[in-house]
Parts: sequence; C-alpha cells; structure tokens
Amino acid sequence: MLDWSELSATQKAMAAIHPVFSEQPARKTDATGLGMIERGGGRVSVDEKAMINSRADVNQLLPLKYRWAWEKYLAGCNNHWMPTEVSMQADIALWKSRDGLSEDERRSIKRNLGFFAASESLVANNIVLAIYRHLTNPECRQYLLRQAFEEAVHTHTFQYIVESLGLDEGELFNMYREVPSITDKAAWALKYTQNLDDPDFRTGTPEADRAFLRDLVAFYVIFEGMWFYTGFAQILSLGRRNKMVGIAEQYQYILRDESIHLNFGIDVINQIKIENPHLWSRTFQDEIRQMIVEAAELEAAYGRDTMPRGFLGLNAALCEQYMHFIANRRCAQLGLVPVFKDAENPFPWMSEVMDLKKEKNFFETRVIEYQNGGALNWE
Ligand code: MN
Ligand code: FE
Repeated sequence: MLDWSELSATQKAMAAIHPVFSEQPARKTDATGLGMIERGGGRVSVDEKAMINSRADVNQLLPLKYRWAWEKYLAGCNNHWMPTEVSMQADIALWKSRDGLSEDERRSIKRNLGFFAASESLVANNIVLAIYRHLTNPECRQYLLRQAFEEAVHTHTFQYIVESLGLDEGELFNMYREVPSITDKAAWALKYTQNLDDPDFRTGTPEADRAFLRDLVAFYVIFEGMWFYTGFAQILSLGRRNKMVGIAEQYQYILRDESIHLNFGIDVINQIKIENPHLWSRTFQDEIRQMIVEAAELEAAYGRDTMPRGFLGLNAALCEQYMHFIANRRCAQLGLVPVFKDAENPFPWMSEVMDLKKEKNFFETRVIEYQNGGALNWE
C-alpha cells in the first residue's frame, strides 16, 4: 500500500489535479492503469483478476486468467485483412451500368453502406471511450485494442467502397443522421454509451455495473450481433446472385471479424454474470430481453424503409424473420428466455457463407489466403 503520510511534493501536486491520487490508495481505485506506481506492492495473482472493479494491476497481462479473451485476440490477428486487397472492378462495372441493378437494389445497397459506414465508428468510439476504461482486465483490454484496429479496417472498407464506386461521400456518411430508420437505431444505442462516457461515471455499485452491462448488450449483442447480421444478409444475398461481388467479399471478411467481436462480448457479459450474480436479477434479465425486442422492431422498420418492395431472394418480411431468429439465438447465448415464437432461419445459406474455407469457388473472386480462416466457429 502507498503510505499517504509520506506524500512527496510531486504526489501532492498530482493529487491536487486528479482525484484518483487523492481519494484512496491507487491499488484500490486505479482501474485505468495510469495511476501512481505502488512501489513494493505485491505481485498480481490470478485470483485477484476480475472483469470489473478489479483491484489488481491492469498493466500485468500475465498470468492470464481469461484464456478465452487471449484466444480471441490471437484469432483476430490470424484473420488480418485489408479492404484494398479486394478487387472492385466487377462492382464498378455493375454500378456504372445502366440496367445491371434495379432502383430498389441501388437504394438498398446505398443505405446498407450508409448504415455500416457510421456504425463502425460508433462501435469503435464505444470501445475506446466507454468500455475500455471500465473493463479492468488486461487480457480483455488486449482484445479491445485488436478490435479497435479491426473497426478502423472496417471504416476503411467503406471509404474504399465510396472511392471505388464514386459515391457521394457526404450522403453516405451522413445517413446515420439524415435517414430516420438509420438514425433511430444509432440514437437508441447511443443512449447506452453516453452514461459510461460521462467522466464521473464509475462502476462499483449495482446500478452502475448494470449500466455497464446494458452498454455491452447494446453494442456487442444488438449493434454488432443483431443489426450487423441483417446488413450482412442483404449484401451477401446480392453476392450469391453475382451482384456487387467485391463488396460481398469484403462483407465476408467483416462478418468473420464481427462474429469474434460478438462472441467476445457474449463471453464478457457471461463472465461478469458469473463474478457478480447479484446483477443478473430476474427484473434485469427481463429488461435485457426488452432491449432485444426493441432492437428487433427498429431493425424491422429499417427493413421496410430500405426494401419497400423487396427484390429477388430478399424482402423486409424475410429480414424481420431473420432478426427474430438471430434475437432468439442471442438470448440463448446469454442464458435468457427466447423473445420470439416464429423464429425459423429464412437464410440457412448464411451459415455456409460464414465458412470462408468453403467459399473459395463460391463468388469466384480472388480469396486471399490468410494464416487461417479458422475463427468461424465463434458463431
Ligand atoms: Mn466492425
Ligand atoms: Fe465489430
């Protein structure tokens, strides 16, 4: 422990400018990893490590407590890709052709791109500015650092698509503010991160810890785990019909990354539940289920807006049904009672698309061999 009777002049000055240094000994309060060094402090033992509200030094990766987090970090690294490695020639030719795509298909593609373009940034900002501070475990933080980079790669993908197809960049990157069905989703999720981004927010009370869990559900389970999946289904459905095959290939790589993001989030939530069973009350479970229902309704409205008439193989009703299927699956992963009755999967081909190894001849585009594509069992 720090001996507060012997504060140096520097420490006193630091305490004056930052409450972390003055309230309690650093060991008790420093979730950031940037607090004063506890000279002569004991070494971290595995038992001291915890997902939230940990008192163990967050700068010591080893010894590992949560091997699942480390394994996801390795899987993410093994899946490295860059959007510029995917050829856009076929997409450019099709996009510029007069009759290769219907007006409905163009509208749906543009809105899909617009939804993802800003969403990747929202997810990245939530990780870096809200989640990272409060997840007090080094191996989970190691994964978050990798995930943050992957979100940058995904945002880069939309920049690359806009540039390749000559799309209106202002139109695309403003859709999350200008297209109500997209704004409604972003605004819904932002409520949950705004709490945590408050500089005075601290975990450590049941109320605050539940706010943290709500943010994890909103971004990992709902944003990345539900809304992204209908977005993937839309583009990959076009890809199966040989349309926008470059974008479809990029979406396959994004989907591979996102399936790990989702499963990391699920593991984080479930581990917090194990360590803090008092948080996961019946009332709170019902609240989480209600969030999932609301999110599915927002997605159904987005489907009706982006596919008012539908096109071959895809329409708003099928997307809504897919959302119900996915919603129930997320409930099962969190140990919650399912929320929908009619939950057959209308897109069974999605599970095949998620296996990139089988995909090599499917789109007949160049598939780059990365170290392994083996991270696809996460879904
Ligand atoms: Mn992403
Ligand atoms: Fe993600």
